[in-house]
Amino acid sequence: MLLLFLQIATKDPLNPLKQDVKKGNLRYVSNVFPHKGYIWNYGAIPQTWEDPGHRDGDTGCCGDNDPIDICDIGNKVCSRGEVIRVKVLGTLALIDEGETDWKVIVINVEDPEAEDFNDIEDVRRLKPGFLQATLDWFKMYKVPDGKPENQFAFNGEFKNRDFAIKTIKDTHSFWKALISKKTDAGELNCVNTCVSDSPFCVSGAQAKAIVDSVSVFYQLFCHTHTHTIIIVWGLFGFNYHAIANYIKITLTEECGESLIVSSMV
Ligand SMILES: [Mg+2]
Repeated sequence: MLLLFLQIATKDPLNPLKQDVKKGNLRYVSNVFPHKGYIWNYGAIPQTWEDPGHRDGDTGCCGDNDPIDICDIGNKVCSRGEVIRVKVLGTLALIDEGETDWKVIVINVEDPEAEDFNDIEDVRRLKPGFLQATLDWFKMYKVPDGKPENQFAFNGEFKNRDFAIKTIKDTHSFWKALISKKTDAGELNCVNTCVSDSPFCVSGAQAKAIVDSVSVFYQLFCHTHTHTIIIVWGLFGFNYHAIANYIKITLTEECGESLIVSSMV
């Protein structure tokens, strides 16, 4: 079974969720032995941005031009597109093909064990082996695609909760500069509906017109028994309310290949 490699399409208007395409090919997540697919719920924190023009003082590398990634270690396997509240526990500084790519370790606040987890040491103590498996997963996940092993800052050491929160705050401030046009957005599309003082802000009607111009397929597709992606919409401006009201993820299969089309509804 192949897991679709889903991404927030940061270069498309309103940043829909789509299957990633690299060099013209649909992208899938390789299985990293002994795992199948992801070993957590994988997602991103809205309104954060790893600025490619900023060289991180700790990693020595620039940002990967994406929102900051999260790994939710909770027991519930979330649905694709689900928005959840999480508690921050720590972070891992992945260097992915020379770019800083923070992986923030979190737990779903709805998890029955959430109150037992408050910092990275709790993960080490209560879920033995999980941090090592996470490190190994990120080290190896591109190897099946012919790429080298990934590297880590801090020698692969997980940093604690306070460090992670500072990293999130830093990337939130980079996002603020981006959405207010104080930083060059490059090819990123910052059109949004809820950051009212952003020069990229559009009305709901304008946003709907953008979405209506995209063809929509409504054949839902579901991978079960594997951790799939939680998507936190709103890299560049959607708030949670907008997510609930405007966005639906749809998918169809054509010509034997999977194609994901996202839309507001
Ligand atoms: Mg990233």
